[in-house]
Amino acid sequence: MRVCYVVAMVAEAKPFIERYGIKEVEGFFAPLPCRLYEGEVKGMTLNVVLNGQQNGSDLVGCEAATVATLSAIQRLKPDLIINSGTCGAFRANGAGIADVFIGNGVMFHDRRVPGDDAWGTQSLGNYAVWEGSQALAEALGLKMGKVTTGSSLDMQPCDLDMIQRHGGELKDMEGAAVGFVCSLLHTPILYVKSVTDLCDGGAETFEEFSRNLGKACEALKVANEQVIDYLTGQIRVV
Ligand code: SAH
Repeated sequence: MRVCYVVAMVAEAKPFIERYGIKEVEGFFAPLPCRLYEGEVKGMTLNVVLNGQQNGSDLVGCEAATVATLSAIQRLKPDLIINSGTCGAFRANGAGIADVFIGNGVMFHDRRVPGDDAWGTQSLGNYAVWEGSQALAEALGLKMGKVTTGSSLDMQPCDLDMIQRHGGELKDMEGAAVGFVCSLLHTPILYVKSVTDLCDGGAETFEEFSRNLGKACEALKVANEQVIDYLTGQIRVV
């Protein structure tokens, strides 16, 4: 089995890469910016693909996530893609800082395309998640929520309106782009998201995100260790 993580930020992937001691395969995706790490864990091939950097900062957002996911699936042919990273969430849904969620759906919240239902449906995305996501969440005692993706860290009133109307819970900048590519290439996708900020908490998002990034990424590493244990059969479901 080959499992491939797609991760936007170095800070999100680093604790996990160090935990498993997986090594970079230098230049694998050149000249694209994404970067490959590879290792073996309990008989499973573990890949981590980072979106990469431009001008010294991590390439967050849908475009880089699309390039990374497409390249990863075409070159590595993984059995499962895992999009792991940080997100905003809502206090009103019971979320707290550094809570880890498994995605039970995925949508875009900032594509406002007028037209008929077909355009509206395509704009929202609503791609399928891996059918084993719920069993995994239950076995590991993790909460589930719907990933909602846009191109900005802040949240405008029209974003909130879209999120509320379609049940979005975990606000990120890559999830639906990764899901889109997985849907095209018939590759199952699991979402593992850790909360850095509360969209309805009243704090300034970037300040709150920066303050909680380390804590959220540590929680993400712990959850991903459980995910790996589950996928390699070390956690038995009774
Ligand atoms: N300049 C910042 C950029 C981080 S962008 C930096 O490099 O530190 C935020 C990243 O975290 C994105 O990859 C996104 O997926 C995720 N994220 C965390 N909280 C978010 C929120 N409230 N809204 C959207 N994305 C969020």
